[in-house]
Amino acid sequence: MPNPVKVTFLGGLGEIGRNCACVEVEGKIMLIDCGLMFPDLDMLGIDLVLPDFEYLRQNADRIVGCVATHGHEDHTGGLAFLLRELSFPIYGSPLTLALAKNRIEEAGLLDRTELIPVKDGERRKIGPFDCEFIPVTHSVPYGFATAFHTPQGIILHTGDFKLDLTPVDGRLTDLARMGSLADQFGIRLLLSDSTNADAKGHSHSETSVGAVLYDLFHEHEGHRIITTCFASHIHRVQQIADAALAFGRTIATMGLSMKKNVRVAREMGLLRIPDHALIDIADVGDIAPEKLCVISTGSQGEPMSALSLLAASENKFLKLVRGDVVIMSSHPIPGNEASVSKVIDGLVRLGAEVVHSGIEDVHATGHAKQEELKTVLSIVRPEFFVPVHGEYRHLVAHAKLGRQMGVRHDHVVICEDGDEVELDDRGLIVRRRAVPAGYLYVDGIIGDVGAGVLRDRKVLAEEGVVVVIVAVDSRTGAILNGPEIITRGWVYAPEAEDLIDQCAEAVRDAIKDATQKDAIDIENLQRVVRRSAGRFVNAQTKRRPMIVPVVMEA
Ligand SMILES: [Zn+2]
Ligand SMILES: [Zn+2]
Repeated sequence: MPNPVKVTFLGGLGEIGRNCACVEVEGKIMLIDCGLMFPDLDMLGIDLVLPDFEYLRQNADRIVGCVATHGHEDHTGGLAFLLRELSFPIYGSPLTLALAKNRIEEAGLLDRTELIPVKDGERRKIGPFDCEFIPVTHSVPYGFATAFHTPQGIILHTGDFKLDLTPVDGRLTDLARMGSLADQFGIRLLLSDSTNADAKGHSHSETSVGAVLYDLFHEHEGHRIITTCFASHIHRVQQIADAALAFGRTIATMGLSMKKNVRVAREMGLLRIPDHALIDIADVGDIAPEKLCVISTGSQGEPMSALSLLAASENKFLKLVRGDVVIMSSHPIPGNEASVSKVIDGLVRLGAEVVHSGIEDVHATGHAKQEELKTVLSIVRPEFFVPVHGEYRHLVAHAKLGRQMGVRHDHVVICEDGDEVELDDRGLIVRRRAVPAGYLYVDGIIGDVGAGVLRDRKVLAEEGVVVVIVAVDSRTGAILNGPEIITRGWVYAPEAEDLIDQCAEAVRDAIKDATQKDAIDIENLQRVVRRSAGRFVNAQTKRRPMIVPVVMEA
C-alpha cells in the first residue's frame, strides 16, 4: 500500500499574496513557491509580510527544494528571507529564476543557493519527487503549472494562470497535456488559482491590450507619452514598445526594476527592442518630446517610485508639462487604490492627460475568470479539489465552480493557511490548523516585529500615548516626586494644562489609597497608576491612549 502524500498550506489561502505550500512524499518536502505580501494600510510601518517559516525550520533537513511557479514577488519574494536560515535548490523557468534572483542577490545569498532552470514540458526527478512542468499563460512570461506524479496519483498545481489563446509570445497554457494526464492517469488532487474566481466570463487576451495601446499612440501623436506597468510584465512592455516603435518613438525606461527587467528580458531574447530605439532616461533631453515614450515603474502608486515622484514634481529625470499623456497600463491591486488615485490626481494637476484602466482597456488581468476555471475543471476532472491563491471569498467562489463542474460535493475542500491535506488509499484527510501559519511582519531588517508591536502602533497612531512618571519612597510608598504627565497625540498639552493637572491629581489620590492599604510593591503601584490614569482619561475624553506608567523607587 503506497505511503500517504501530504500537502500543507503555509500562505495564500485567505489572502492575496505570500503564496507558499509544501508537498510531502516519502518524508521529503518540496516547497511550491515562497512569496511575500504587501502590507494593508492598517499594518503601520510594515514593509512586507511573509509566511510563518516555523514548520519549515522544524523540518529543514527534509526539504529537497522549491518549485518557483513564476517570477512574481508574491510567489518568490519570501525566498530571500527563508534562504537566510535554510538552504535548498530552486527550480523554475530561466525567466522565473532571473526575476527571483534579484532579491536573493541583494540579500547576499546567491553563492550558496542553487538555481536550477527547467524547460517547458520537462519531467524531472528530484529526490522522491517526480515533477512535470506544464506551460501556463500569466501576466509574467514563462509560468508553470506543476504536476507532481506521486505514489497517491497526480497532484496538479496550476500556479497563477489564465487561458490566453493569443498570448504575445504564442506560448499557450498546455491544456492538452493536462487533459492527457487526466485521461491516462486521472488527477487525484487539483490545486487551482482562485484570484479571479468571483469574476464572471473570460479574461481578455493580452494581445487585445496591444491594439488599444496602438490606438492611443495614434491618437496622441505630437505629445510626449509616459506609460507605466508592472516591471515583470514583459509582454506588456513589449506591446508598449511595439506601439512606440510603430510611431517612430524612442524608448527610455524609468525606475530601477524596469531598467533591470528590460535588460534581463532582452538578453534572454524575450523582449524585442532594437538597440537604436532604446536610450537611457538621463538622455531624454536629446529627444523631441513627441518622439519619446517612457516606460516607468510605479503603476501601483508606490510612494518612492518613479511615477509617484513625477506626480510630485520630484523626479530628477523628467518634468511633466501640459499636454503630456500618461498611460497607466495596469490595475491597482486591492489595497493600492488610494495611492494610485493620489498619483493620478498629481499627474492631472500638472496638466497631463491620464489614461487608465477605468477609461480605456489598457489592462488585461493575468488570472483566469470563471469560464476559464470551469474549462480547466472540465478538462482535469479531479477526484479532489482544493482552491488556492485568493481571499476567502475567492476560495468559496472557486469551490462552487468545482461542484458545478461535477467534482463530488464532499471532495471539494476549502482550506486556509495552516491547514494540511493528506491523500491515502481511501481518500483525503483534512487537518485544520496543523501547522503555524500566522503573518510574519517585516519592518526594515527586523525579521518579525510581531502582532503585539502592531497592536501598540495602532493604539499610538489612533489614540496617542500618556506617560505618567512618579517617584515613591520604597518603604512607605509615599510620593516623593510627581506624578508628572507627558503626552503625545492624546491632547495638545499646552492647551490642556488643567486636564493634565487633574489627571495627575487622580493618579496621586489612587496612589495614596493604595499605600494606605499597604499595597506598595512596585508592580502593584504601576497597575494603580495605569488604571487610575486610564480611567480618568477615558471618563474625561472618551479616548483610550496607551498609558505608560513609570514608577521609580527611591
Ligand atoms: Zn499570485
Ligand atoms: Zn502571479
